Amino acid sequence: MKILIIGQGLAGTLLGYRLERAGCHVDYVDAPEQTAASDVAAGIINPITGRRFVKSWRIDELLPAARDLYQELERTYGVKIWYDLPLVRSLFNRGDRNDWEVRSADPGYAEYLDDHPDPGRIPEQTVPVFAYAGVRHTARVDLATLVAAHRSASSGAGRFRAQAFDYATLPALLGKQPADGALNAGARPGEGAGAAPASAAPYDRIICCEGWRARFNPYFAYLPHGGMKGDVLLVRTTAPPLERMFKHRIFLVPQSDGTYWVGATSDNRFADDAPSPANYQFLSDRLEELLTVPYTIIGHRAAVRPTVRDRRLLLGSHPSWPELLIFNGLGTKGASLAPLASRWLADYLLAGAPLPAEVDIQRFAP
Ligand SMILES: Cc1cc2nc3c(=O)[nH]c(=O)nc-3n(C[C@H](O)[C@H](O)[C@H](O)COP(=O)(O)OP(=O)(O)OC[C@H]3O[C@@H](n4cnc5c(N)ncnc54)[C@H](O)[C@@H]3O)c2cc1C
Repeated sequence: MKILIIGQGLAGTLLGYRLERAGCHVDYVDAPEQTAASDVAAGIINPITGRRFVKSWRIDELLPAARDLYQELERTYGVKIWYDLPLVRSLFNRGDRNDWEVRSADPGYAEYLDDHPDPGRIPEQTVPVFAYAGVRHTARVDLATLVAAHRSASSGAGRFRAQAFDYATLPALLGKQPADGALNAGARPGEGAGAAPASAAPYDRIICCEGWRARFNPYFAYLPHGGMKGDVLLVRTTAPPLERMFKHRIFLVPQSDGTYWVGATSDNRFADDAPSPANYQFLSDRLEELLTVPYTIIGHRAAVRPTVRDRRLLLGSHPSWPELLIFNGLGTKGASLAPLASRWLADYLLAGAPLPAEVDIQRFAP
């Protein structure tokens, strides 16, 4: 099967990898001058999130799928992607501790919660806190290294094009007649237009993996795309490495080169995806409150998370053109969601396996 993937961030990479492994020919088109969320994310895998310490959706299934696929990719590309890193978080007051204890007593949570974590050097390098709590089965995935390794392999094989995809060319690439020009209102591209014989088509399938920019794809603009911009800082300290992730009001995440990823902000309303001075100020204020050792801010970046209004993935085929698919909606948790979600979509595409109803785009009418 010949497949074109539009957008090669985390979604395009993992799905493309699975399809190639299954014997498909996969070409990629990506506009690398655009900022990708996968290039800016910390890649934290954290099964317990939020102020109420809630277990993430389907995390018991997602975690083993994630570890297996990322570690397979490490072997395939000979790069380090998966870092088992403990997560220590601050409890700010008695209320937090009560909430934590309630969760700890729940058998479904016990495996993930550590009431007495080893905070390592955190107390020596950061302000005192009411108490520490730990989350087990956490990790950091180096998404930027993964995407770069897969891109380099695809480029080397002549299957990667560095350019913005022109949606006007899409019908011809699937051997279809041009659509009627009113696609972004959810019009059905196949309506009233006879399809050319399938053998004339350069591609058997096109899969759209554009992250938050899917809102500009006229074929899938009818879906309830959100978008949450996040700014982050990159920081160097002179102190010995922390060797664990720390969640206070912001995350402090050790990187393999000894620096820290610090973030992130969350803006549902944004004019662009460029780093913002106000968010820089916000993050540097939080950092100043937190660290008690000398540090230098060495970078400031921003990108947009591909969120969805009902907070679930967007997987499946276009309602009128089954050859046109989407893999999107990885939101704030792409590192943990994408490995299993890419398996669901690959099995749907290659074996006709049904998608879980809660992630299938059929839940939205065009
Ligand atoms: C600040 C921040 C922190 C985050 N931290 C975490 C975290 O700790 N843990 C976690 O799990 N997740 C985190 N995320 C979320 C995670 O980054 C995303 O869920 C995931 O990377 C989304 O991957 P994607 O492939 O869907 O999108 P992207 O990575 O954005 O990739 C989309 C690609 O499509 C390309 N593209 C778009 N339109 C076109 C077009 N028309 N033509 C050609 N190419 C196109 C873009 O150039 C881009 O390369 C974070 C995100 C941000 C912004």
